[in-house]
Amino acid sequence: MTAQIIDGKAIAQKTCDELKTKISSLQDGAPSLAVILVGDDEASQIYVRNKKKKATEVGIDCHVIELSASIGESALLSTIDELNDNPHINGIIVQLPLPKHLDEQKIIAHISPDKDVDGFTPYNSGLLSYNNPSAFVSATPKGVLELLKSTGIDLVGKHAVVIGRSHIVGRPVAKLLLNADCTVTITHSHTVNLPEITQTADIIVSACGQPKMIKSSWLKEGVVILDVGITRVDGHLCGDVDFDDVKEKASFITPVPGGVGPMTIAMLLVNTYEAFLRAQAKGETSHCCHHKNCHCH
Ligand code: NAD
Repeated sequence: MTAQIIDGKAIAQKTCDELKTKISSLQDGAPSLAVILVGDDEASQIYVRNKKKKATEVGIDCHVIELSASIGESALLSTIDELNDNPHINGIIVQLPLPKHLDEQKIIAHISPDKDVDGFTPYNSGLLSYNNPSAFVSATPKGVLELLKSTGIDLVGKHAVVIGRSHIVGRPVAKLLLNADCTVTITHSHTVNLPEITQTADIIVSACGQPKMIKSSWLKEGVVILDVGITRVDGHLCGDVDFDDVKEKASFITPVPGGVGPMTIAMLLVNTYEAFLRAQAKGETSHCCHHKNCHCH
């Protein structure tokens, strides 16, 4: 068996094209996204630039609010308050990681659940635990499920093994798979005999950041593999899965790069559009935020 490649890049582009069409046909306003970037971390600046570029392409107003690395907690919370109260802002995200002196959980929890398009607040995380369809689901896990659905396989009753238990990827992915009626095993760095567990998996979602860790001897014939991991090795991006070693054993697999990665921004934009529709249903429309730290205009 040679694995079929799940083309995340193409699926993400199709999603963005469809979104662009929907936004261009809106009668009243356009969705708007505020991205708070604290400090000058180079990787974060690149991620934010990419989010703004893609958002603009589909017709979402993206306001990047750049704040000093030395900003205090209360000033950052006040910025979030202003955005929460601003009817012209539909989605708010705080680019992570934050500088060490800031309490990430406290800052994220301050975002209004209605504008939490990253789905990181305890409220939306709780809704997802309840399998409540109104939850904003974090972009990467949401993208993973979209890619899984694109294979056409029936998820009901499948044994899904999730590698990694972070709040950003592993845990929400596990909840989504459970909500899709999979039997889910969550594994992590303290798991004993991981290869024995993965050998029983019909589906593997790996998000542990250990390059090429997963080998063909770890797998059951025909397994579906979603590789979330991204690590730079010798200047090249590398997944958690040893792609060349496993490609004859898996039935479907995402490549790195070009698999899960491109879906992340696409899903963030889908969530922002959804937040706009919900705000519009309450009688609000969208314009520039005019925030004093907004460098977009
Ligand atoms: P994290 O460091 O917060 O969590 C890693 C998890 O992997 C932890 O739960 C840890 O217990 C587990 N782990 C570590 N080593 C392990 C091992 N040897 N065996 C089993 N489990 C192990 O990381 P994260 O934010 O969840 O990201 C994970 C990976 O996914 C990283 O490579 C990251 O770059 C990538 N990522 C990609 C996207 C995307 O858009 N494609 C988005 C987010 C994260």
